[in-house]
Amino acid sequence: MNQTNVLKEQNQVPEPTLRRLPWYLSNAKLLRQQGAQYVSSTQISKATNIEASQIAKDLSYVAITGRTRVGYDVGELIHVLEDFLGFTQGHKAFLFGVGSLGGALLGDSGLLHFGMEIVGAFDINPAKVGTTINGIPIFHTNSFEERMRDHAVNIGILTVPIEIAQTITDKMVAGGIKAVWNFTPFRIRVPYGIVVQNTSLYAHLAVMFNRLNAAL
Ligand code: NAD
Repeated sequence: MNQTNVLKEQNQVPEPTLRRLPWYLSNAKLLRQQGAQYVSSTQISKATNIEASQIAKDLSYVAITGRTRVGYDVGELIHVLEDFLGFTQGHKAFLFGVGSLGGALLGDSGLLHFGMEIVGAFDINPAKVGTTINGIPIFHTNSFEERMRDHAVNIGILTVPIEIAQTITDKMVAGGIKAVWNFTPFRIRVPYGIVVQNTSLYAHLAVMFNRLNAAL
């Protein structure tokens, strides 16, 4: 590893922290709805079941300082967290594979609130190409390279059948995609510098079943 990479790794926010910060954000939004102006680590701790010291440590990565005794300004906390987590930046994405899962993601307006705008989707099924879901146009996969020239997109969402997961990933990367949100159960390979986020509902299900069995 060279010097730049070492420095990059040292400056990286730990993944568990990045996973917890959205919980604090949701909690702060709920408190704002309820009319609260300030929130302390102890209050967030009670609501999220995470140690107050851990919360303070997590929030130390974010540019916010609490006020003695009153805590954090709720509005400021929301603003700073949304900004830090990249939810305000409007990341544009393309989705590949408009099946049950891909179609559901296109229909989910919630992604936009988290800063991800799906500007187009690709499929090969003639019944889907040329239609829209939630106002998002569905193009033929063959036109991907052309569409990449029209939009500043750097995220690709992968919801294709497992057999073509790698082929489509290679296509995305060759076309200029910098991050792949992989929903397929295939461990895709990408060149150095390309970000991959694997997401599986089933992985969480396995954890739940395992814990449930242990509790019975
Ligand atoms: P599906 O069969 O309903 O949809 C797949 C879609 O991909 C179809 O519309 C098909 O026409 C399209 N497709 C085929 N070849 C293509 C190509 N070359 N370019 C673009 N699109 C193409 O399948 P599904 O149930 O939506 O599942 C899709 C993927 O997501 C699978 O790999 C599945 O294992 C995975 N999945 C993951 C989770 C999760 O929790 N991560 C949940 C459900 C499904």
